Amino acid sequence: ARHFLDRANRHQDLAAYVAIDPEVTLAQARAADARIAAGTAGRLEGVPMAHKDIFVTRDFPSTAGSKMLAGYRSPFDATVVAKLAEQGIVTLGKLSCDEFAMGSANESVAVPAVGSATPQTPKNPWDRARVAGGSSGGSAVAVAARLAPAATGTDTGGSIRQPAAFCGITGIKPTYGRASRYGMVAYASSLDQAGPMARSAEDCALLLSALCGPDLDRDSTSLDRPAEDFSRSLNDSLEGLRIGIPKEFFGEGLQPDVRAAIDAALKTYEGLGAKIVPVTLPRTELAIPVYYIIAPAEASSNLSRFDGVKFGHRAEHYTDLLDMYKKTRAEGFGDEVKRRIMIGTYVLSHGYYDAYYLQAQKIRRMIADDFRNAFTQCDLIAGPVAPSVAWKIGEKADDPVASYLADIFTLPASLAGLPGMSLPVGSGEGGMPVGLQLIGNYFGEARLLNAAHRFQ
Ligand code: GLN
Repeated sequence: ARHFLDRANRHQDLAAYVAIDPEVTLAQARAADARIAAGTAGRLEGVPMAHKDIFVTRDFPSTAGSKMLAGYRSPFDATVVAKLAEQGIVTLGKLSCDEFAMGSANESVAVPAVGSATPQTPKNPWDRARVAGGSSGGSAVAVAARLAPAATGTDTGGSIRQPAAFCGITGIKPTYGRASRYGMVAYASSLDQAGPMARSAEDCALLLSALCGPDLDRDSTSLDRPAEDFSRSLNDSLEGLRIGIPKEFFGEGLQPDVRAAIDAALKTYEGLGAKIVPVTLPRTELAIPVYYIIAPAEASSNLSRFDGVKFGHRAEHYTDLLDMYKKTRAEGFGDEVKRRIMIGTYVLSHGYYDAYYLQAQKIRRMIADDFRNAFTQCDLIAGPVAPSVAWKIGEKADDPVASYLADIFTLPASLAGLPGMSLPVGSGEGGMPVGLQLIGNYFGEARLLNAAHRFQ
């Protein structure tokens, strides 16, 4: 723990951490030592790890990257955090993310990084002029730069997979409902899932096994399925594994450097005994408009709780209750969050609900059906995580639509609730890492991790 705290301190310029508290961390580490000495160690006893600042934690501030929650202290730990602690994980601190997990570059974080007085976009350790991806950008940087052996992330439309790909690490989002959402600041509840980000599929398997599991009393969408040991089949043979390649993932938008790295990875899989099967996911393009209706709709509802009464920020000067609400929200939310609240409120409003929200829900179901068809022909699906390698900081900052479009390959699995992961498979333009996305059928996490582990 001391080693990683020291590294986190020395590399504050990477802007990965938004909270550290060495006293808290070292006390947890001593408690872990004591349990090891007493012979009561958990499976992950003493392993240090940092959490995306979208999880609430008792021992560290929890901001969700927003001014709205600056200085907020939760009276409880998120279930994911608590489950990892039960296995002996020691918390190094909290990691930067886009405000309320809305973004693809961690450029809309509104709270200062550790060692800085102002908000900072985490820097990609492979090229500091580039973004780390988002929304779990701090998590990806911390792992890639070895400021933590592993980190938690959350993925609503790609926020584990895309930053993992941009920073050359491994990350997995489980089947929707596997990981409890309790204590994860809600963005879009029907899509939000937690998962680990680490150096290898093996590390991810150990962490995923610890953080998943039913939480039926606290999360109404938690699945009633016992926790699994996702590392049980890491070394299984890939002989005869059918890997589906959706042609829609290899169209015009895909940059040639990324394509070349993905093609080479697929060759490696063939060498390992897998069979490449062409499949089709015909509604891939529709995933963008569908997601950018459903996610903002849910966000506009979820964020209504930030009214200046119950949590965090409250405007100082106001004339009456309504004025207090307005000023609090105008001051507390950043531009991207406001944009999504407006879109969400619009698509849910009377007269537009049927035209936008209801239509989007119907197409969402069709996207899931496309996957169901594809999985009759293959065991897992492979493709790129993102159309390009990490872009330059600022490049898409003023063009929200450009960054929405770059989510095209991660959104479909999210809308269908399927497990998906990213593993580093090569490099592209500027020597930047390229991630391969593997999408599994429902509850197919062990298979995904097995395929990733054999590659690594
Ligand atoms: N980039 C997507 C968005 O901005 C996904 C973010 C996420 O998965 N949390 O909504």
